[in-house]
Parts: sequence; C-alpha cells; structure tokens
Amino acid sequence: MSTLKKVNDLTNSPLRKKFLETAFKPETNMAVAMCRVSTKGQKDTGHSDDAQRERIEEYITEEGLALAREPWDVAETAFKHDKRKNFLEMLNYVRSNPAVKHIIFSHQSRSNRNRESAKEIESLVKHQGVVLHCVRDNLKLHSQSPLEDWLRWDIFNALNEKSSADHKKNVMDGTIKRIELGLFPGKAPIGYKNIRPNENAESVFVIDETTAPFVKRAFELFATGRYSVARLIQELGKEFTSETFKGKKPERKYIEKMLKKPFYYGDFDYAGARYRGTQPPLISFELWTKAQAAFKQRGWKNKYTRNGFAYTGLTKCGGKILDKQGNETDQVCGCAVTGEMHHKKQKDGTYKAHIYWHCSNTTTPCSQRDRAHMEKKGLRTFYRQSSLETMFEEIFSRLHFTAEDCKWMQDVLLKHHAEESGKYNQKLSALHSRLKMLSRYLDEAFTEKVEGRLPEELWKKKNEQWRLERDQIKREIAAMDDKKDEYIEKGVLLIELAHHTVTYYKNAGPEKRRKLIDIVSSNLILKDGTLEYRYRKPFDILVDSGGKGKWWRR
Ligand SMILES: [Zn+2]
Repeated sequence: MSTLKKVNDLTNSPLRKKFLETAFKPETNMAVAMCRVSTKGQKDTGHSDDAQRERIEEYITEEGLALAREPWDVAETAFKHDKRKNFLEMLNYVRSNPAVKHIIFSHQSRSNRNRESAKEIESLVKHQGVVLHCVRDNLKLHSQSPLEDWLRWDIFNALNEKSSADHKKNVMDGTIKRIELGLFPGKAPIGYKNIRPNENAESVFVIDETTAPFVKRAFELFATGRYSVARLIQELGKEFTSETFKGKKPERKYIEKMLKKPFYYGDFDYAGARYRGTQPPLISFELWTKAQAAFKQRGWKNKYTRNGFAYTGLTKCGGKILDKQGNETDQVCGCAVTGEMHHKKQKDGTYKAHIYWHCSNTTTPCSQRDRAHMEKKGLRTFYRQSSLETMFEEIFSRLHFTAEDCKWMQDVLLKHHAEESGKYNQKLSALHSRLKMLSRYLDEAFTEKVEGRLPEELWKKKNEQWRLERDQIKREIAAMDDKKDEYIEKGVLLIELAHHTVTYYKNAGPEKRRKLIDIVSSNLILKDGTLEYRYRKPFDILVDSGGKGKWWRR
C-alpha cells in the first residue's frame, strides 16, 4: 500500500532513548538510607523505629542493593529546610560520592517535607541518575519514570506542604489560646516551674521553691542600684550555693535577661508585645520598676564612665574625609571621639594611666586620623584628656554670671520647675481621679452582678477591662515618681552651677564635668585642635555679654 521505505534506522538513536524508552538502568547498586524517628526522646533512648528499619533492610535485599554506609537515624520535628542537618548531610554525601545511585526512605513524606528538600532530591534524580525509593509508598522515581509517578510525587509534595502549614497553624492556635488565658506560651523561667493540673489541661506556672529565693534576692539587691550585674552575681554567689544552677555559675547575660522579665511581677512579653499573665507574682511591680531604673542608671554610668572614660559619646569628630591623594573633601567625618587608655612609664619606674581621645572612624579615611595630614598642621591624631578638658573649660569661662544673673537664673529655674511640677501634679491628680473612678466602677458593677442586674458575662468582660486599666495607671504613677527624681537632681546641679560656673567646673571630677557640659552645651565637635559647640537655652544669652545687659534687653 505504501510506497515509502524506512531509510533512517533509529533503533539505537539518542532521540529514541530520550523520548521513548522508559527502561532505566541505574549505574550501580550503591545506596544510602534514612530512617526517621518521630521524637527526639526516641532517638536518645536508641529506639529508632525498628519496624521501619527492618522494612528498609528487607527492601534492600529484595532489590539487590547495597548500603554504602550506615543509615541516618534522625529525629526530625523541624519543618524548616535549614534545620534538617542530617537530610542535607545525606544529600551532600550522595553528591560527593557519585557511585551512590539510590536513596531510600521509608515514607515518601520523609523525603520531602518542604519544597526545597523536594527540589534537591529531584535534581539528583534528574541530573545525577539517582533513583529515589519510597519503600512503603511503593514509589520508585528515576529520570525515566512515567509521568504518573512524577505526578504522584508532585501531589505528595503539595500535600506535605499543606500538612506543614496546618502544623504551623495548630502551633499558632495553641499559642494564641495560651496568651488569651494569660499563660506565657513557653517554658517557665527560673523561679517557676510548669505543671499540668490534669492530662488535658493547659500547663500552668507555679513558683519553684528551690530557685525562687534566688530570683527574689537578685531583684532586691539589684534594685538598690549599687550593683552591676557582674557584681550582683558575685554577691549572690556568697548567699546561694551553686545547687541553684546545678553546679554552674550563672552567666551575666542570663541574669540580665532575668532581671528584665516582667514575668516576675505578673506580665509577660511575647513577640514584641506585653500581656497580662495569670502566674502568681514572685515580686512586686514596684520592685521590678526599681530594678529597671537601676539598669538605666547603670547604663548611664557604663556608657560614660566605664574605665574612667567620662567623655565617651560627648564629642563628634569634625575631620574631613580624605580623597585618594590625601586631600580634604567636603565630607565631614562625624564619627564619635572615643577614649583609649595608655600606661606610660614614669621616671621612678611606675606606670601612670593616660587617656587619649581620638576619632573612631575606621571605615573611611578621616583627616583627624591621618598622621601626615595632622602633622602638617602641627597636630597629632589624638588629644590628651587634659587638653580636651581645657577646651571644655572654655564653655564655662565664656559664661558670665553676676549676682543679678544668678538671681535671674534661679528665678528662671524655679519658674521652670514650678511649671514642670504643676504639669506633673496635674497629670498625677488626673491619674488618681481615674483610679478612684475605676474602683467605684468595679464596686458598683460587682453589686449589680450580685443583685442580678448585670449579666455574668458582661460583668466578667467589664471587670477584666477595668482591672487592666487600673493596673496600668498604677504603673504609670510609679514611673512618674522616677522622672521627678531625675528632674530635681538636674535642677540642683544647675543652681550650683549658676553660682560658681568656672570654679565649679574646675573643681568637679570628670563624671560631674560631663553632666555639666551636657546641661550647658550641645553639638560638640572636635576639629584640628579646636572645639565647636552650641549653648543650650538659657545659657546662650549669658555668653560674653558682660553680664545682664544683653539678656536684660531681651
Ligand atoms: Zn574623624
């Protein structure tokens, strides 16, 4: 019938191989296998899923495969790709041992819990001639597998992804439920322990009598403001045996975190927000607040006076960024000027500490760090502390105070103080009256509930809301007290300064000098041996005016 004759023989052509032949012959029988256990506990006790392992071994015999090494036994509860260390280790093993052409899993789901894992396996299968065996699912996947098998693989992957998302949602549902119940969704911090009242109940927090005294004492001591965290640990070491920490010395960071936890007075933080907790408080809110204030106070000290570096963070470098030829550009450096301690040998053989101040710029070439550049100006790349202090002195020597000025300054300060305290008292009394009102609401609502005029549900809701607000107001009042103290301290310094200026500055130690400089001036810039700065109000009008004249006219 047909007159056409076969003129090309494609029996052994690559074209036929590529598109038509489904027979696939693995290059070797070398295999790796991965057995999984569902919990870490199972792995630790050595009870890998025996049945799973047995089945895999059977399969290996049936298929005439040979294991290249011991199977991986992994407890994986992690869904995230990067957490699957063992899984990645296995992939790497297969990649670097090209003789291995078989990967064996018990379940298909074990091999591709997420898309990234699935893709990596797929790539080995498609490009490296690897065969994937999922023993229980009866799936054998290779580059020539029929489309149905690849389809099954894809469906499995999609299902896995869904179950992973469901799992995440379940975890989150649990978390939200716990927060709603006022239960921190995590492990009990030191001082508490988790207990589960009964099998189906949420786990709650109770005070752990063995560690609670330690936490309590730590707060009490730290709240005095007399301890750094490191010294606090030392002090606690005298009172508590190492039993509290199972023989280990607590780390500074750990104790610092502990002292900041609102958990101990009754709240807790989760994902950036603070929630009201239902755990029994270990300390009062007042004590907790004091401890936080001690952090702030210590922060100030740590920042400015650590190792006697009183002027850290006070001045900025006014140097210019240099170009490749070493010429100044228009760009100002602006980095902080920092202190560095040097020990110099004296004639009598002893050492004396000197503090040198210099620009801290290490990323771009700054003129004030360039030796050649500074030497041209007859300067060095650092300033002695004493010369820095002489420069600061000028800030005060330019301020002229007559007796009248002093009186005026005091009046200004007093007036300012009166305004501030007026505002303070106003706010305070507003808070107190709101507090009174809330107490009345709570009482009245309770009576109405008892008398049956207010439905139980509504009462619960309102009661909760008012209590929450009441607690918040109480906290706000405590915080205001702290602020008042700070204001008074500053005011006292100001009044003393108004009386004596330069002498007062000269007689002060670095810490006090630092405070005075902060009160009087701002925007300090150090450049080529000179100090630029701005006076804060009202000091700006007392400068070089020869006294009252200038400000009087204003
Ligand atoms: Zn600089």
